Amino acid sequence: MHQGVAGSNVRGIHRSPQSRSQRESTSGTFGRCGTRWHRNGECGAGHIDSGWPDRHTGRKAIAKLSKRRAAPRIDLGAENVILSSLPLDDYKRLLPKLERVKLTRGHLVYRAHRKIEAVYFPEDAVVTMVDALNDQRTVEVGTIGREGMVGINIFLAGAASPDQAIVQLSGTAIRMSAQDFRRELTVGAALQRLLLAYARALLAVISQSVACSQHHTIQQRLARWLLTFRDYSGGGEFMMLQSSMAAMLGARREGITEAAHKLQTASLISYCRGRIRVLDGPGLGRKSCECYRFIARQYAALNLALKPIARA
Ligand SMILES: [Zn+2]
Repeated sequence: MHQGVAGSNVRGIHRSPQSRSQRESTSGTFGRCGTRWHRNGECGAGHIDSGWPDRHTGRKAIAKLSKRRAAPRIDLGAENVILSSLPLDDYKRLLPKLERVKLTRGHLVYRAHRKIEAVYFPEDAVVTMVDALNDQRTVEVGTIGREGMVGINIFLAGAASPDQAIVQLSGTAIRMSAQDFRRELTVGAALQRLLLAYARALLAVISQSVACSQHHTIQQRLARWLLTFRDYSGGGEFMMLQSSMAAMLGARREGITEAAHKLQTASLISYCRGRIRVLDGPGLGRKSCECYRFIARQYAALNLALKPIARA
C-alpha cells in the first residue's frame, strides 16, 4: 500500500496562471491572519517582489531542454533538475515508470521509520525533512525542491528514513515507485551519478543547518528560511503559518512571532492570512545569517555540475 498519501495523479495538468498563494488560498488550507504580525489591520497588498533571482529562469531552460528531448509519448516535461539533466536515453527509459502527482501543503510524503514506497522529484512543490523528538518538538533538517529528490534513503540502500517528509509548498512532483527506482539504479549509471552529486550537496546543506540552529539567532534563521522559500516559490509570495515556521525552525511560536514582527516593522516582509510576501530581498538578506548564501552556492554549483556529471 502506498503510504503517506501524497496527492492525486495529475498527469497532463495544465497550470493555472494564479500565483502559488492564490492557488493554495482557493483550496482553503491556510489559517487566520497572524495578529501580532499584523497589528494595524493592513495586509500590505501589492505587487509581488521579484527583485531577486527566481526559479523561472531555470524553468525556462528546463522547458527548452524538455522540448528538445520530446519523444512521441513524452508528456512529462519534468521541471525537476535531476530528471532534466539525464541523458535522453535514460530519460526515455524512465518515462513509463514516472507519474506526475500533486502534492498538497501539510501532507506527509513519508513517515519516520516507515517503509518508503516511492521517491519524488519535486517540480514546484517543496518538501521538508523534519525530525521529531519524543516530546513532540520538531526541527527541519532539510528542504527539497526542484533541485533534488525526496526519499534519498532509498538511494542510499535504505528502506526507511529517521525523519518524516512534509509538503511545505503545494505543487507537483514526479513520482516513481521505490521498486522501479531501485531497479533503475542497477542499470542507470547517469541517475546514480546525479544522485551521488545531489546527496553530497544535501549533506553539506544539512551540516550547515545543524551549525545554523546552534549558533545563529531566531531572526537570522527566520530571514534565511523566508529567503529560501521566497526563492522556491519563485515570486516573493507564499503561504505559511507561524506555527509551521516555528515547527520547522525548532523555535517557540512566540519567538517566531517576535522576530517576524521586527522584519515586518522594518518593511522587509508582509504577512496576512498566512500569506507571506518578501518586500525587500536584499534587506532581508542582510538580516539573514551566512547560511542562506552558503546553501544557495551549494545548489548553484550542483546545478552547473549536473549535466557534465550525467554525461561522464
Ligand atoms: Zn545560519
